[in-house]
Amino acid sequence: MTVTNDPRALAERAEHDLAEATAAEALAWTVEHFGDRFIVASNMQDAALIELAHRQRAEFDVLFLETGYHFAETIGVRDAVALTYPGVRIVNAEAEQSVADQEREFGLLHQTDPGRCCALRKVVPLRATLARYDAWVTGVRRVDAPTRANTPIVQWDERNGLVKVNPIAAWSDEEFAAFIADNHILENPLVAEGYPSIGCAPCTAKPLPGQDARSGRWAGQGKTECGLHG
Ligand code: SF4
Repeated sequence: MTVTNDPRALAERAEHDLAEATAAEALAWTVEHFGDRFIVASNMQDAALIELAHRQRAEFDVLFLETGYHFAETIGVRDAVALTYPGVRIVNAEAEQSVADQEREFGLLHQTDPGRCCALRKVVPLRATLARYDAWVTGVRRVDAPTRANTPIVQWDERNGLVKVNPIAAWSDEEFAAFIADNHILENPLVAEGYPSIGCAPCTAKPLPGQDARSGRWAGQGKTECGLHG
């Protein structure tokens, strides 16, 4: 592991040097520079990113935002990941308030103010967890949304103050699906049931025929992102 006292400069150099890197190259660079000081984020829609990271290092942390509002199937994938990859340490990032306490105090925020709900249950716990690491690895892809179209493979995450690595940023939907199928990667059973983009249960619906994959997230609420990657 190489140590740097200027992670921002490291990220800015890598943004240029690794602009065309493969997922394996980006993850090998992450392991080389950060050892066990990085964490891989997963929404447990599938274990593709975890499998890719596991090919570079057997033991690492996986960040799961345990909002308390997940589908049972998503929790099942998280637990299956822990069994399938024994070196993986699942880090459940939780809000300060339980769902019951939040609903008692504020009602159903996911209906009345989803931005605040995501802030309390995702953004704040994410920030608190990332503060313990020097880099995080995400499954963001450019094809996910117009707001993600310019996602680099490596970047400096100004908001959270650490290096952000997006190893599969350049992957198309077809490449991604082929990787899952060819390598028998764990996948959330809800995908086969018609949910191509899975978040919290109250905010995830099946997209209507002909609509894009993420249209089922916060459907009808004018919201497209949780605020994690903006
Ligand atoms: Fe709340 Fe919905 Fe955001 Fe989950 S996705 S934190 S339920 S608003």
